[in-house]
Amino acid sequence: MAEIGHFINNTKVAGTSGRQQPVFNPATGASETQVALASVEEVGQVVAAAKAAWPEWSKTPALRRARVLDKFKSILWERADELAEAISREHGKTHDDALGEVTRGLEVVEFATAAPTFLKGEFSENVGTGVDTHMIRQSLGVVAGITPFNFPAMVPMWMFPVAIACGNTFILKPSERDPSASILLGEWLAEAGLPEGVFNVVQGDKVAVDALLDHPDVKAVSFVGSTPIAQYIHQTGTANGKRVQALGGAKNHMVIMPDADLDMAAGALMGAAYGSAGERCMAISVAVPVTDAVADALVEKLIPKIEALKIGPAADRSSDMGPLVTRQHLEKVTGYIDKGESEGAKVVVDGRGFRMDRQGYEDGYYIGGTLIDNVTPDMTIWKDEIFGPVLSMVRRDSYQDAVDLIHDHSYANGVSVFTRDGDVARNFSQDIEVGMVGVNVPIPVPMAFYSFGGWKASLFGDHHMHGMEGVRFYTRMKTTTTRWPTGMRTDPEFVMPTLG
Ligand code: NAD
Repeated sequence: MAEIGHFINNTKVAGTSGRQQPVFNPATGASETQVALASVEEVGQVVAAAKAAWPEWSKTPALRRARVLDKFKSILWERADELAEAISREHGKTHDDALGEVTRGLEVVEFATAAPTFLKGEFSENVGTGVDTHMIRQSLGVVAGITPFNFPAMVPMWMFPVAIACGNTFILKPSERDPSASILLGEWLAEAGLPEGVFNVVQGDKVAVDALLDHPDVKAVSFVGSTPIAQYIHQTGTANGKRVQALGGAKNHMVIMPDADLDMAAGALMGAAYGSAGERCMAISVAVPVTDAVADALVEKLIPKIEALKIGPAADRSSDMGPLVTRQHLEKVTGYIDKGESEGAKVVVDGRGFRMDRQGYEDGYYIGGTLIDNVTPDMTIWKDEIFGPVLSMVRRDSYQDAVDLIHDHSYANGVSVFTRDGDVARNFSQDIEVGMVGVNVPIPVPMAFYSFGGWKASLFGDHHMHGMEGVRFYTRMKTTTTRWPTGMRTDPEFVMPTLG
């Protein structure tokens, strides 16, 4: 069986730990490859390679670093299909959705090519008589990114383009469920002219993650994944003296006000709840119609659309939705629907009955789109992140009830409101305690030149990802104060210098 190994010093390297695990094709349920799981020693080798590359890379002119990324961007455009196919093969998402992921990642590369501009410092002359001060942003050293299965190309690209544009060297620890994209990214960066050791991939599980968190030469860790692990990464990494940004799970609500265009809202809900089989941290998983009349009308509009969802493998380019990522995840999502039903919610459209009858795909991890009405805040299916094509509906009587519901949730990644009332829209975007807000936009993912991140249990740390927040995370400030001999006093000065 072919093994996906590591990528160190611009070379593919086989694992030596003797530990590996199978990688499945969720569309068929078959496994043709396995992924190496790194040992502590292998992580040490990767860190050593990245550390050796840092002194030269950090002093390489920012414009030259940006040009390598510019070349990499061109390669990504040309080979987007190839990368999308690799993503779909191990993740299961449709080809067009995988292409969308590649494009959103590529936009961060595009942002990072502006490094010479965003790394410009500040200078003040005569902060005191004959004294000047300047501030620069310098790289940290070796930084690591630990990423989830659901965006095997985009989430790494939220991190490494900005990190390496700023002069750091980078180690990616991708999800062990879909590791192939990381190797393609490494090969294409090398082809674009990135020096050895600047971008490296180490495959693995908790052993590799803990080795990165414990290694004194890793200066910062970026993490995206589930909340319990995000919290663990943040606690362990910061206790070890590292900078950490750790993005966690989500439960994103969409409020539909009585004055909203319900056809528009229903269409938006379909894409936001069922796109990528709901395996998006910005998926809408809770619809919050204000008033029963809005809820009833919305249910009527949604039922035929959900029943018409075309579920199939990425190989069929007309599929709307692919399978879930693993059999265990399929069982978990199915279990949540069972739980919702037993807790008294109404399963209006039931995806549990879906059977894939296409030859060769019978064992894939497919489930149909599901709509559950009359969900209440005491139910597990409202509290937990399900991460599948399951839309819960929590009915509310007023705008304020809807806002209170959202504020009661522990997650605060994304949220949206559908309304034609400017006052409601403005109050909502000002008052809602959630990191990313949409007004008549169901999935308000900020563009690459803004920054991505939620609040509360959806993000641990101080910095959001990419955009200027990414630059701040991956650099440290240095101020230099200068006086030249003609301005020097010869007598010693024992009091705090002030301008006087
Ligand atoms: P996950 O937390 O299981 O895994 C994420 C990474 O952590 C992987 O690289 C994995 O190998 C590693 N990991 C897993 N268990 C670990 C442990 N015990 N110790 C150390 N490392 C460990 O997440 P996932 O299932 O791959 O991804 C789905 C989750 O990611 C969802 O909760 C989703 O909301 C979240 N997510 C969040 C965002 C965001 O921006 N907030 C974006 C994408 C995904």
